Amino acid sequence: MRFSLLSSLLILLLLLVALPAAAAGVEMTGLRFWSNPGYTRVVLALSGTAEYTANFLPGNERNGVNPRLYVDIAATLAATVPETTEVGDGLLRRIRAGRPDAKTVRVVLDLNSFKDYKVLPLADPFRIVIDIAGNRPAELSSVKPELRAPSAGTKDSIARILENVPEDRPLKVHIPPKAAQNGLRRIVVDAGHGGKDPGAIGPSGIQEKDVTLAVARTLARHLEEDLGCEVVLTRNSDVFLPLEERTAIANKVGADLFISIHANASTNHSAYGTETYYLNFAKNDKAAAVVARENGTSLKQVSDLELILFDLMANSKINESSRLAAEIQKSLIDRLRRHYSDTRDLGVKQGPFYVLLGATMPSVLVETAFISHKREEALLIDQKYHERTAAAITQGVRNYATALKMIAAR
Ligand SMILES: [Zn+2]
Repeated sequence: MRFSLLSSLLILLLLLVALPAAAAGVEMTGLRFWSNPGYTRVVLALSGTAEYTANFLPGNERNGVNPRLYVDIAATLAATVPETTEVGDGLLRRIRAGRPDAKTVRVVLDLNSFKDYKVLPLADPFRIVIDIAGNRPAELSSVKPELRAPSAGTKDSIARILENVPEDRPLKVHIPPKAAQNGLRRIVVDAGHGGKDPGAIGPSGIQEKDVTLAVARTLARHLEEDLGCEVVLTRNSDVFLPLEERTAIANKVGADLFISIHANASTNHSAYGTETYYLNFAKNDKAAAVVARENGTSLKQVSDLELILFDLMANSKINESSRLAAEIQKSLIDRLRRHYSDTRDLGVKQGPFYVLLGATMPSVLVETAFISHKREEALLIDQKYHERTAAAITQGVRNYATALKMIAAR
């Protein structure tokens, strides 16, 4: 559609009216952090979309001045946000929140060590994610993550998740004394979407969040029984879980693999098939569309994210992830084809998925089938299909682990 001068003016007028009104109401409502091996993640929660700038001040070792990172946000500060949050994890000393003027919140990160940092916005609810990468002193990095106590007044988000897990199938997050070298001990299975985020919705009203939870639970059982692994589910009920918390859980429990389960969707209702993704640049428009949908972002934001990813990728396990994705995809197609002649191999693809972002272990996202396709929607609510899909993914994990000698060949 071509815009006329009049409609352009109208939009400009709307923007002028809407923007200051929106900015005036935005409040920073909280901050959270996770200490992970190799990086620390800080999340600033806001009540709405806000403009922000990030600035880095290099330290001066001779004068004993530590490096600092500060983010200025056009917002007000909730009284519940503490002025100072002590972190002391070897990378990040503490977080300070203040108001240099009535219209600005300034969050200062006092750093110990520093290699690289990333600041990126996430939508719905709007929040600002800050990842600080660096070299943690050896004695600190050997401390188990759950032993690094969150500072007073800050509710550790993992603890919060664990509290909300229903009784019927509690999350198991006990860490064995020491994981075997190269062993496959612990796998995090992530059921996509949940709570207020239904994911994609099928023609007869089936919601992706219910399908992913059912498949994830079945997969957890297969991985435990067939491979003897410990499995941690990121969610085990119909709860909303921000994307960054999902990989944070995987990093926190020291998972060896991260598998996110989803169901695909397309505006083209004849589209169907099975595909597996790993974190990388979106190579084509269709992949970018899947990425945008799973991230809850627009296509424009996806390309912004690609720039941020360029550096982050250097630290992720791209090769292992692509190998894991290939094994899972191959096994899915081989096994499902035995029972469903219409199984279509859409192959292994790449995309900048938020949910895989920051994972320090090989991680993949499986789009089991198209919920927007009538026949596949029916499959996605069929327990037999869940069992077969779970068995196939488990076989893919086994093949991956056997090839890398993570487990003995059987
Ligand atoms: Zn999804």
